[in-house]
Amino acid sequence: MKRIAILGATGSVGSSTLDLVEREPDRFNVVAVTAASNVEALADVARRTHAELAVIADPRKLPALEAALAGTGCRAATGDAALDEAACMADLVMAAIVGTAGMKPVMSAIKAGVTVALANKESLVTAGSLMMDEARRRNVAILPVDSEHNAIFQCLGSRDCNDVARLILTASGGPFRTKSVEEMAAMSPAQAVAHPNWSMGAKISVDSATMMNKGLELIEAHHLYGLPSEQIDIVVHPQSIVHSLVEFIDGSQLAQLGPSDMRIPIAHALAYPERMETPCERLDLAKVGELTFEAPDPERFPALRLARAALEADASRPIVLNAANEIAVASFLDGKIGFVEIAARVETALEKIDVAAPTSIDDVIAIDAETRARTSERIAA
Ligand code: NDP
Repeated sequence: MKRIAILGATGSVGSSTLDLVEREPDRFNVVAVTAASNVEALADVARRTHAELAVIADPRKLPALEAALAGTGCRAATGDAALDEAACMADLVMAAIVGTAGMKPVMSAIKAGVTVALANKESLVTAGSLMMDEARRRNVAILPVDSEHNAIFQCLGSRDCNDVARLILTASGGPFRTKSVEEMAAMSPAQAVAHPNWSMGAKISVDSATMMNKGLELIEAHHLYGLPSEQIDIVVHPQSIVHSLVEFIDGSQLAQLGPSDMRIPIAHALAYPERMETPCERLDLAKVGELTFEAPDPERFPALRLARAALEADASRPIVLNAANEIAVASFLDGKIGFVEIAARVETALEKIDVAAPTSIDDVIAIDAETRARTSERIAA
């Protein structure tokens, strides 16, 4: 029986995880679940799974959670220590909180020796070196859930990266793949979150539309697989069937294919090193018919260029990139800025910064907080 903690249990990845673990009650035991503020959904999940601990990030919601869980035997809690406790009490933690808020519990899980199924890409973007060093020191497995990195993980098998010439991340191109900059400027939040292939949370859907998602994934891949920026390429593949590829030094490329359903990479991480069945529709290549590929356009999608430059510059710029992007995306979703302004705000945040490389998680949090404050002020001005 694998003990599972699900951080971000009420979100898109969290719900897909629950869908899978609830199908195999003899194999998985959900011990802890967490959410930001959605008490009703969290209490429902905690009751259904008979979790031991439910953590709500918003302290004002604790009394409501306590009331909703009265008599169930599930303890309700709030605060950073409770979130850390949730992350550390399992054999495997599904890290599916969105944004930098998910970083600290991931680090706590690694320090406690808990296997991490990592959906929260922002953890590696901001604190990748610190986390991977800690994971190596403690021999903790980080299992990538992001479909591209999971695809690479599957293609590599037990090989290390010595024989790898390059990693090729596929990108759907998002809902605005064929739009001009002028057309993009007029796009609403509803249009930006309407991803053509994947059903995901709002923030990552907007990141897909700007292609910042692929930029963040480039940085994530660098940390997971230890390859430099120049050995990680991006190719646009609108059908989202090939989830990524590995090219070896002999010129051979291996790819992982599947339908656009996050339950497949999630199942891979949950069952690893074994496999588990999923209810996902099977891929019928004859029905798909055509798989196409094209080079990304850094002019219309400047986020790609910004992310690569941040990765190549130093360890602090990816933190600035990520924090400014989170604020800009939230401002776009709130109707405060237009779509093309998202990347422009990130670019401004990256100009003339002079911060030392982080040597601890506290350094990461300080750079993150300062960037958020500065970007919010600029947007409000
Ligand atoms: P959602 O927005 O759907 O869900 C986010 C979850 O995190 C919710 O449970 C939410 O709780 C919780 N949460 C949000 N803010 C905080 C906070 N400050 N503190 C604690 N908990 C918080 O996100 P997704 O499931 O789409 O994405 C989760 C992560 O996985 C992201 O990092 C994303 O980039 C990554 N990812 C997602 C994919 C997808 O298909 N969705 C694919 C690959 C990666 P509440 O419901 O109460 O708000």
